[in-house]
Amino acid sequence: MPDLLKVAKFGGTSMADYHAMKRCAGIVGSDPDKKVIVVSATAGTTNLLTEFIAESDKERRLDIARRIRFKHLELCNLIQDKFSPQKKILGLLDELEQIAVRTQLMTSMLRDDILSFGERLSSELFTAVLSEQTGKDAHCFDVREIMRTDNNFGSAEPVIEDIARLTEEKLLPFLDHKCIVTQGFIGSDSHGFTTTLGRGGSDYSAALLAEALDADVLEIWTDVTAIYTTDPRIAEGVKPITEISFDEAAELSVFGAKVLHPATMVPAIRKNIRVYVGSSIEPDKPGTWIVKETKDHPVIRAVSLRRNQTLLTVHSLDMLHRFGFLARLFTLLADHKISVDLVTTSEVSVALTLDSDMNTPGKQKLTDEVLVELRSFCEVEIERDLALIALIGNRLDTTAGLSGPVFGALKEINVRLICHGASTHNLCFLVSEKEAEKVVQRLHKTFIES
Ligand code: ASP
Ligand code: MG
Repeated sequence: MPDLLKVAKFGGTSMADYHAMKRCAGIVGSDPDKKVIVVSATAGTTNLLTEFIAESDKERRLDIARRIRFKHLELCNLIQDKFSPQKKILGLLDELEQIAVRTQLMTSMLRDDILSFGERLSSELFTAVLSEQTGKDAHCFDVREIMRTDNNFGSAEPVIEDIARLTEEKLLPFLDHKCIVTQGFIGSDSHGFTTTLGRGGSDYSAALLAEALDADVLEIWTDVTAIYTTDPRIAEGVKPITEISFDEAAELSVFGAKVLHPATMVPAIRKNIRVYVGSSIEPDKPGTWIVKETKDHPVIRAVSLRRNQTLLTVHSLDMLHRFGFLARLFTLLADHKISVDLVTTSEVSVALTLDSDMNTPGKQKLTDEVLVELRSFCEVEIERDLALIALIGNRLDTTAGLSGPVFGALKEINVRLICHGASTHNLCFLVSEKEAEKVVQRLHKTFIES
């Protein structure tokens, strides 16, 4: 049987220090299949680079650059001499310190360039650890040669056809005889300027590369052993999910579970690539397989919670018997790249939910500018401190008898909005943040524990 081609992504906690990197090298080394490895920056480094960017004082910026230097050199010094990436690491660290002292004006282009240092450093280090630990001939590949994006710095959009073409031209030739390590999160526009896919974007990078390489498997190695039936910090009796379908996992990553970047499933679904989520700390514990067709199809597989929701309700005085209002509303939101999750409408109003947590990857803010534009053609109300709860599973739209137990669990709770029927895989509603955990516990008990 021919070898499988796998893309394996290791996140920041998997790259936390030398020992964590050694464990990841062990995971790669124990698998005979061919692998392209995608890494995140070492834990906390992207946050430090974000602080660096926000800092206008040169001395304090330099201070942050020195902390990054210390952390990476410490790691570098533990690698056996023969494989030492020291020269490259020093080159990158010097460059970052020069940016710290030189920069007058922080542009969005420079921001992405600075953010890229995290992944550029970690990938050099991990390449060396992998060679040292496994004897494999590992090669560090600069993903910016193939991860073509638009020039929307900070949350760039990948250009799928270009990535496919460039991957074939520039990455495939290495695959025959080398083990490739490359960077998540970063890319480049058509002029060669560095871009980033948004915070937490490495999962998405790995999925895009798996797509371009037509890989058999995408592995996401993280700090949890599996995807759970709900957040283990909230409810008792949670169970790891051994197998879940693409559609359910896509809903889950959008509506709650922070395990995967929400865009990750899109390339995997396009190319029917199986995804495995496992823990790099306990790689022997069974993880979760995300596949096109699962063996079982439970009505409720998981209960998810997404905090920090804003409910935007707009009323149009003109909407009665008129057309075009929804188009105008959604065009405005689209122009500002604001992503909407749930929508309900009545004759004269529309209610929709938005993420208020700006750390959520790929989400744009409801700015004052947007509000002014909205108010020019409708009345606007905003409610915050809400949470979105989703029941994720199968045939939710056609299963009789579901609403009884759902509403039973919600009895004295004020439900602000319900969405049901658009997807066969979810039923969502909005409650106040304060009551959200109680509702999740009850639903989990009703549908999953019993
Ligand atoms: N290093 C980036 C971040 O912390 C990307 C990632 O880890 O996925 O957001
Ligand atoms: Mg991550």
